[in-house]
Amino acid sequence: MKKRIVLLPGDGIGKEVMHSAKEVLTAIAEEYNHTFSFETHEIGGAAIDQYGTPLPETTVDACKQADAVLLGAVGGPKWDNNPSHLRPERGLLGIRKALDLYANLRPIKGFKNLLHASPLKEEIVSGSDLLIVRELTGGIYFGTPSERRDNGESVVDTLAYTRREIERIVDKAFQAAQGRRGKLTSVDKANVLESSKMWREIVEEKKAQYPEVSVEHVLVDAAAMKLITNPASFDVVVTENMFGDILSDEASVLTGSLGMLPSASLNESGVGLYEPVHGSAPDIAGKGLANPVAMILSAALMLRYSFELEDEAKIIEDAVQSVLDAGYHTADLQIPNGRKVGTEEMTKLIVDYI
Ligand code: ATP
Ligand code: MG
Repeated sequence: MKKRIVLLPGDGIGKEVMHSAKEVLTAIAEEYNHTFSFETHEIGGAAIDQYGTPLPETTVDACKQADAVLLGAVGGPKWDNNPSHLRPERGLLGIRKALDLYANLRPIKGFKNLLHASPLKEEIVSGSDLLIVRELTGGIYFGTPSERRDNGESVVDTLAYTRREIERIVDKAFQAAQGRRGKLTSVDKANVLESSKMWREIVEEKKAQYPEVSVEHVLVDAAAMKLITNPASFDVVVTENMFGDILSDEASVLTGSLGMLPSASLNESGVGLYEPVHGSAPDIAGKGLANPVAMILSAALMLRYSFELEDEAKIIEDAVQSVLDAGYHTADLQIPNGRKVGTEEMTKLIVDYI
């Protein structure tokens, strides 16, 4: 199979973990006789430094022509005081919007052998295997106007959704639930927000089209609690942009580290974008300490969702589990009697397995 993959390493540990993902994909290509061509472009702070904008046209064009896009992470203290149009995060929001990536899928599974890395009790974490489906192009991140008013004495952010935006994400979530255990939890704040009332109405309307899926509605505050007290009760969780952002960071404690969580962002047809859930982690950037697993598992999701290479995706996931089983882990994780390794060695162990 011949595929064009655009790599957007971005900033901080994004660059380090992207290098790992590329090595893993190169090993897969060799082992399974695929031709993957890689093209690297700038985004975020790196793009601001080089081109004066967090999202250059050349980057957008390359992504639109690619078969899939891998993204590292953007941001860092260097650009924290930039005006809003020159913030690295603009690049990320911009590329999601440009590719119309409306669905963000985040699988979360309690890894064997790593349970002790979570502050939660083993009996709570074990058996957790859920998929958070987060809406990605609407909501409060994109509402206008978002501004200071009255000489800085008041402030406005707008949470906006169209019926169409809610319908397509809800459909995606129902379809994902069909392929899993057939349970959908819709998370909202319908006791307060008008947008959530409409969200709930649409989930209720759609239910009839997916009779084999059972549906529950949970308020976001209750969902936040249940995610910690009884994570195994969730199969597929669908929610709007900001709730999904918060809940997926919370859910990361189930695996023990943000460094373990991959994500897939999909549009209605064509290119998907795959990135770790974590950010650029400026505190450990450049030190060779970053856990490459989230990025490597994101590459596995790319093989699965964009290229339909299930065997290849699975071998990467097996490789990760096998290396953890052998006791190897990066500094963000703990395994009793395990062996702490850096980014490069962790990557090499995974590549060797493949
Ligand atoms: P963002 O605003 O971009 O989401 P953030 O402030 O949420 O960033 P992250 O960069 O996501 O912060 O990570 C938070 C902390 O978790 C980091 O500072 C780092 O210590 C740790 N961390 C995140 N990802 C990894 C990783 N891949 N390997 C090791 N540690 C990590
Ligand atoms: Mg974050």
